[in-house]
Amino acid sequence: MTSDRNNPFRIAQQQFDMAADILDLPESIRAVLRVPQRELTVNFPVKLDDGNTRMFTGYRVQHNLGRGPVKGGIRYHPDVDIDEVRALAMWMTWKCALVNIPYGGAKGGVIVDPKQLSLSELERLTRRFATEISILLGPEKDIPAPDMGTNAQMMAWIMDTISMHRGYTVPAVITGKPINIGGSLGRVEATGRGVMLMVRDIARRLGRGHDGLRVVVQGFGNVGSTAAYLLEEIGCKVIGISDATGGYYRPSGLDITAMRTFTDRHSFRLLEGYSDPGVERISGEELLELDCDVLIPAAVENQITELNADRIKASIIVEGANGPTTPDADQILTERGVTIVPDILANAGGVIVSYFEWVQGLQEFFWDESDVNGKLERIIIGALDDVWKMSRSRGLPLRTAAYLLAVQRVADANQTRGVYP
Ligand code: NAD
Repeated sequence: MTSDRNNPFRIAQQQFDMAADILDLPESIRAVLRVPQRELTVNFPVKLDDGNTRMFTGYRVQHNLGRGPVKGGIRYHPDVDIDEVRALAMWMTWKCALVNIPYGGAKGGVIVDPKQLSLSELERLTRRFATEISILLGPEKDIPAPDMGTNAQMMAWIMDTISMHRGYTVPAVITGKPINIGGSLGRVEATGRGVMLMVRDIARRLGRGHDGLRVVVQGFGNVGSTAAYLLEEIGCKVIGISDATGGYYRPSGLDITAMRTFTDRHSFRLLEGYSDPGVERISGEELLELDCDVLIPAAVENQITELNADRIKASIIVEGANGPTTPDADQILTERGVTIVPDILANAGGVIVSYFEWVQGLQEFFWDESDVNGKLERIIIGALDDVWKMSRSRGLPLRTAAYLLAVQRVADANQTRGVYP
C-alpha cells in the first residue's frame, strides 16, 4: 500500500499539472489529459492445480488515444492497484509522444505474485485475463507488452488466446513475443540498451566520458540486468546490484556475466544465494546510497524519496524503472545539481522496439538485429537531443523539458482532432 503522498497516479497528475502550467494549456484540453480515457476492471476465476478455483482482479487502462492505438505493458505483482495502472498508462502516453511513435498510452496489471503460481496456473491466469480484456485489444486498438512479472512466454499465450478467438493468427496484437512467433530481434534487450545509451550519451554531454564510470543498478530483471551487462561491455564498472532479495556490492566491479548466469539457473531469476570473492551483501536501501557516479533504479516506483534523496551520492540518475523518484526527491536532487534522465525518456527503448515489432508484424517483413539496434539508437538519442536542447535553452531540468515536449505533442494531436461529436 502506498501513502496518498506517494500514490503513483497523484504523482503522475502532479507532473502533468506542472507541464500544463508552464505550457499554459487551455483548461478544456487539460481536463481531457488529466484523466484516463478508458478503464476496465476485471474479476475472474482461475482453476488451480489442486482443483480449487481462485478469484483474481486485473485492470487495463487506456490513458489517451489521441495519437494512435494505445500501447503499454502488463504487470503481474501483488501491489498492483488501479492508481498504479492509471499512472503507468499516463506515463506511456508521454513516453510514446516524446520519442514520437504513433501511439497513445495504456497499461495493464493483475494483482498476483507470479512466484506463488505454477507454470500451468500462470498460463490459465494469462489466457483468462487476456480473454477478459480482449474487448479492448487489437493491432489497431491496444497492443500490450511485458512489464514487471511478465515475460515473452506470457506474451505468446496472449497472442495465441486472441488468435484462437479470431480464428486466425494475429501477431501484431502484442509485442515482446518470442522470435519464433513474430517477435523482433533486439526486443528483449531494448529497454536495457536504451538505458545504456542514455548513460553513455548523458555522460558525454556532461563532459565525463563513460569509461570507468561507477554504476549502481537497482533491480536485476529484464531492464536492470541488460543495462548492467551492456554498461559493463562499454567499459563502465558496475559496483552494485540489487534485486528483491537484497544488494550485492564489490567496489572493484561485479561480474555481471556470472550474475546473469546465476539468475538464469535459479528460480524466478533471483540472486538469492549468489556469492563471489569480495562481494559484500548489503541491504536494498544501502545500495541506493552507495558512492558511485551513476545510479539506475530499474525495479519499482517510489524508491528515491524525500527520506533518502539527501543521501544519494550519484551525480547522474538514469531511470530504468517507471516512477522511481518522487516529486519531493526530484526537487531535492535537482537543487543538489544531480542530473536525472527521466523515465519517460530513459526506459523508452522498450516501447520503441515494441513499435518496430508491431510494424514488422503488420508488414510480415522482418529486420535484422543491427537494423533494429541502429534505428533504436537513432530515435532515442534524437529524443535525448531534443530534451537536452530544451533543457539548456530554457534552464529546466531534463524531466520538465521532456514533459513539455511530450505533453505539447499530445495536446496538439487532441486539439487538431477536436471534440467528438
Ligand atoms: P522484471 O520483473 O524483469 O524485474 C524486476 C526486478 O526488480 C527483479 O530483479 C526484482 O527482483 C527486482 N525488484 C523488485 N522489487 C525490488 C525492490 N524493492 N528492490 C530491488 N529490486 C527489486 O521487470 P522489468 O521488466 O525489468 O521492469 C523493471 C522496471 O522497468 C519497471 O518499473 C517497469 O515498469 C520498467 N520498464 C520495463 C520495460 C520492459 O521492457 N520490460 C520497459 C520500460 C520500463
